[in-house]
Order: sequence, then C-alpha cells, then structure tokens
Amino acid sequence: MTAPRYADVLIPVAIDRPYSYRVPAELELGPGDVVSVPLGNRTALGVVWQLRDDPGGVSHNRLKDVLARYEVPAVPAAIRRLVDWIADYTLSPRGMVLRMAVRDPDHLAPPRPRIGVRLTGQPPSRPTSARTKLMALMADGLARAKGEAAKEAGVSIGVVDGLIDDGALEAITLPPESVAETLDPDHARPALNPAQHEAAQVLADGVAARAFQVYLVDGVTGSGKTEVYFEAVAEAIRQGRQTLILVPEIALTTQFLDRFAERFGHRPAAWHSGVGQARRGRVWTGVAAGEVPVVIGARSALFLPFQDLGLIIVDEEHEGAYKQDDGVHYHARDMAVVRGRMEAIPVVLASATPSLESRVNADKGRYRRLILPERFGGREMPAISTVDMKVQGPPRGRWISPALELAMRRTLEEKEQSLIFLNRRGYAPLTLCRTCGERIQCPNCSAWLVDHRFRRRLVCHHCGFSMPPLEHCPKCDAVDSFVACGPGVERMAEECATLFPEARLLVLSSDMAGGIERIRQEIEAVAKGEADIVIGTQLIAKGHNFPHLALVGVVDADLGLQNGDPRAGERTFQLLQQVVGRAGRAKDGSRALIQTHRPDHPIIDAIVKGDREAFYEAEIAMREEAQLPPHGRLAALVVSAEAQSDAMAYARMLVRSSPASKDVKVLGPAEAPLALVRGRHRMRILARSPRAFDLSGWLRDWLSKVEAPRGNVRLEIDVDPQSF
Ligand code: ADP
Ligand code: ZN
Repeated sequence: MTAPRYADVLIPVAIDRPYSYRVPAELELGPGDVVSVPLGNRTALGVVWQLRDDPGGVSHNRLKDVLARYEVPAVPAAIRRLVDWIADYTLSPRGMVLRMAVRDPDHLAPPRPRIGVRLTGQPPSRPTSARTKLMALMADGLARAKGEAAKEAGVSIGVVDGLIDDGALEAITLPPESVAETLDPDHARPALNPAQHEAAQVLADGVAARAFQVYLVDGVTGSGKTEVYFEAVAEAIRQGRQTLILVPEIALTTQFLDRFAERFGHRPAAWHSGVGQARRGRVWTGVAAGEVPVVIGARSALFLPFQDLGLIIVDEEHEGAYKQDDGVHYHARDMAVVRGRMEAIPVVLASATPSLESRVNADKGRYRRLILPERFGGREMPAISTVDMKVQGPPRGRWISPALELAMRRTLEEKEQSLIFLNRRGYAPLTLCRTCGERIQCPNCSAWLVDHRFRRRLVCHHCGFSMPPLEHCPKCDAVDSFVACGPGVERMAEECATLFPEARLLVLSSDMAGGIERIRQEIEAVAKGEADIVIGTQLIAKGHNFPHLALVGVVDADLGLQNGDPRAGERTFQLLQQVVGRAGRAKDGSRALIQTHRPDHPIIDAIVKGDREAFYEAEIAMREEAQLPPHGRLAALVVSAEAQSDAMAYARMLVRSSPASKDVKVLGPAEAPLALVRGRHRMRILARSPRAFDLSGWLRDWLSKVEAPRGNVRLEIDVDPQSF
C-alpha cells in the first residue's frame, strides 16, 4: 500500500468542513495527528480528520501542502467522534467544537526541559555566606531546579549561577515536572455505612464491567455521595484506567482537591481556565499518553484526549454551570453521557437535587438510581420553617424579619455561624426617581441598572455597561431624588452591620474585587469559622462544607419563582435545597428560616417538609402536561439584529419556511425573554418535538433550505435550552 497523499484537516475556527491538503512524501501522517497548515496567508494548527488517496474533486495542483506535524500525541478517535457528534447535535460548525479540544499551539508544544543543578564534589573557591547556605542545601546530593534551589536556600539566582561558573555545581537537564501522580486506591479508605457500601459496590462493579451505564447517585446533602463515587475512582485506578471528574466550579474548590488527596495520597490533575498555559500543556499530553490517572475539571475537560478512559463522574449534575451558552451551546453533563456511551464506560451523575432530566431517565430505567436517604453518621437535616412576610415581615426598608433577627442573635450568642442568602449581587436591583417614577435602565439592554454601592457604580448584569451614580434624574431633572428599591447582598450587609455591630461580617458574591483567588480565600475563611455572619449569593450555596454553620436565613425565597420561565420552579427548589443543606453538616440542632410571601407555594412546602418526592411528582406532571422537556425535545432559535424590524423579518421568514411535520411544533417568533441585549433586539422561535424524534436533523434540513442571515442579523441555535 502506498501512503495516502491527501489529508482532510479540520481547523479549530468557525468552519464546518475539514480542508484538503497534500501530504508531502517525507511526512508520515495518521488520523488525529496535529499538524500545521497554510490557511490564507497565515499558518494554522489543525487536526487530520481523514486521509485519502484522491484529492477529493479538487485538482492536485490547487491544493497546498501540510507544513509539519507536531510532536504531540494524536487526537484520539474517540475525541474526533465526539466532536463530530456534538457538531451535528448542536448544529455548530465542526471547527468550533474542535476548538474546545485543541486550542492554542502552545498547549501542544512539547514540555520545555527544565534546567537543574547538582553538586560536582568540588568545594567553592570563595565561600560567602550565601554560597555556604546554598551548598548546605545541596549537600544532600539531590538535583534541584535552579529556581527552586535558590528559593529554598533563600539566595538569589545569581548565587546559583556563580557556583556553576565556579565549578562547585553543574547545570543539568531535569525531566519535565510531572503532572502524573501515582494514586493509591487504598490510601485511606473510609468505613462506609450500609447505604454507601451498597451504592459503592454497584459502581465499582460497573467500572470493572467496562460497559456503558449511567448511574444517578441521588442522596441528600451530606449523605456521603463523594465517598461513594471515590470507590468507583479507586476501582478505575486498580484497573489501570483513567477517570474524569467534572465539577461545576472547580476554580473555587481547593477543599475538594485536598479531600481527594487525603483519600488517594495525591491531588488529581486539575483542568480549568485558571490553570497556567505550561501546566495545561503537560496535563494535555500526560492525559493523552495515559500517564495522568485522574483529572478533575470544568466542563471543557470533557474534551481531553484520554488514552484509556474508564469512568466519568459528573458531580452536582443539576448545575446550570454545565451548560455553555456562547459559541457552541452544549450541556457538559449530557455530552459526558454521550462520551460514556461512545467509549462504553460507566458515567456517574451525583446530586442532592437531580435535574428533572436525570430523574426521569432514572424513573424510565435508562439510568440506574442509587439512593442515599440519610446524612452520614445520622447527622440531622436542619429544622426548616418559613417566615410569612405578609404578616411577620420587618418594617419598611428592611429585609430581616424579627424571627430571623432573633435566630441570628441566638446563633451569635452560641458562637456559631449564620448564612444570609440572597441571590442578588450589588446593593439594590433598581434605582427609581421619587419625583417622576423614572427607572434607570441600561442603554443597551432591556434591564434595570443594578446599584453597586461598594464600587459606586450602576451596572448592567447583562452587558457589563456601568456608570457612576446619577445626581439629576435624566427625565425630570430632580436633584437627589433617587431611591434604591429592593435589596442586594451589599444592602443586606449594611442591615446586618446595623443589627449586629459586634459580629464579623463577610460578603461573598461573584463580582467581588480580587476575583477568584480572593473568593477562594474567603470561602476557606468561612469554613474555618472566621466569620459570624456570611452574606452571599448562589456562589455560597453550592457544594461547600462549612462545619460551623448553624443557621441559614433565606431573605427572599420568592425571587426565583417570579420569572416566567417554566424551569424556574426546578431551579428554585434546587437552590433552596442546596442552601439549606449547607447547615448542620458537622453538628445537630441547625436551623433554616425561609422568608416568603407564599408559604403555601408547593415548592416552599416541599422544602419545609423535606418532601423531595412531592416536588418531583408535581414538577414532572406539569412538564408532561405542558409537553416540555424532559417530556419532549425543545430547540430555541434566537434571531438578533440592531433593528428590531430586521430581526422580526428574518424570524418570520424562518417560520414561514419551516417544513411541515406532524412531529414538530414551531412556536413564535416572540420577543426573547431578554428582548434587548448589548444593543441587539432578540426574537425567539421554539421548536418542540417528541423525545424520540431527531429534532437536530430536522432543524439542519430546515436551515439548509433557507437563506443565511445577512448584514447584522444573526441566528443562534440552542438545542435543549435551559430556559424555555
Ligand atoms: P455529599 O457529597 O453527599 O454532600 P459528602 O461526601 O461531602 O456528602 O459527606 C458529608 C460529610 O460526611 C463529609 O464531611 C464526609 O467527610 C463525611 N463522610 C461521608 N461518608 C463518610 C464515611 N464513610 N466515613 C467518614 N466520613 C464520611
Ligand atoms: Zn446592558
């Protein structure tokens, strides 16, 4: 057989098809190889998608040559198939999906050798105190990286160089720093309780069976789900296979890495946007070479080129953070299941509040549900009660009811921690002119500007527009006439400071100055008990272990229930359940107080009674009734343009040209839930079909027959939208 002479190379940019290139005779290529190719007048990185003998309809002379092959492991067939699958399903250009698997050539460059030093055995000619310190460190005979040696000895790098010149040390090349720690499956195995043991056994058997199966580990907060899926990880390690653990907010969870290290002896390799370029490169190649046993990462870790993946875990599977809503619209939990099926391996979904999708899949027997009904160690769930804000509310202009205030005071006296939860960043969600009633709105979006008083800015939470607080009303010109309406976390902090001047307060929300690193430190401070009252948004509601937390106060449970999205009920239930579940993880006698105007709302009622089943039953029935997911399939087509009439015209044309189908119902166009974002008007069309129907295929067929949008009109497709 002669070597193939042409390669179809997929380039990670917004194009759907691989481009054909000639393969020079001296270059040996296989599918998945990472190559550089000419693209227009530049050089691009690409992945060999296919090799062939014919130039594919293009004349040989018109094709350009592949320039070179990167010395990195090939992108495995599993990833190439996953990219194809996701592109088809989400109707995204193939190259855009590939971008998530291979991005910058820097990642893919082979690791640079590190320069180290070691003793030569010759004493330094001219000992100084710095030189003596360094020689004392090196006296153990071990080689060290140059920088590390200087740092450990507390001397400058010049001292190291000086001793090399002097002949007392010699420079050597060290192997690249390893990201592939050997993990010990039996390093510190906890004794499991019977429910945990049973679930862990099922998972471990699943891993050993090397077959596709999705498991839903459904257990209340604090039931020990993590310990259970760690047993599956242990089994994968024993089998010599790799594990991927997806978590929603990896950047915040050093706690989790430490816990993993306690169980397996070392931390896993982490993969998220905060990991430095060089380290990412090493993880990527280490994963591809099969040397990294466990990766814990954000949703993008799903596209890592594992050589021998044996298990995928999706922790907090209900989390909205798994859905990517820009570029390629995909849900990492669902795509993890797709990858698991392609690779014939088990996928473990874990949650205290499973998504309706996963719950229904379990009920229908598609997933296997493993239930942990109680908290580990017999620890009690917090006692939950409501405060009816219609009759027991605080005076005007305040948000902490007398009942919550009293509970907070008691908690303070007991030297325990309170968490005041309000899912609203900033000081106040709305600024209003007292004289004329004008509300301050974002110039680019259909949204109010949020008062961020700590920063002295009015900010749009949709486009980031911000401006200093106004003095005159832009409409009636009144001076000092503005009032802040409603509370945000900053305002709650003010109220708490007034009520409890002696307490140590801590405000946590995602827009804090100092970014992720600061938030991580603050979360650790809360865990260590270094704050009496913590005021936070949903950032604080999730996954964290706060052993000192004895009281949770929900400022406004109705917030999430007010918007028109049919998924609002599910989200509110999950969020409240998670927040409430932060309390009492280390000690009994904890409480949660939920402030609401609707104490008898079924969702609030289910939370108070701890009756999850009531919630799932009612919610599943509602979705069936309305023919909404997970009962059926849904896709959203959002048409946007600078002029509303342009968006409307294209959206109408789309609907008119939709192929008739007994399976698909096309709804709209109507204004999208956020009708104006970043100066673009948005119209939305929804397409709904039964679950068994190939909605993506139907959409592709439809869109292939209509004219593509022109000018500034844009069409975005979101299959399985999270809001509907
Ligand atoms: P979940 O993930 O269900 O919220 P975790 O796995 O975080 O629960 O467990 C809750 C707490 O109980 C943690 O502090 C954990 O260390 C502890 N725990 C769970 N299972 C065990 C066990 N078998 N032995 C000792 N401690 C356990
Ligand atoms: Zn805006």
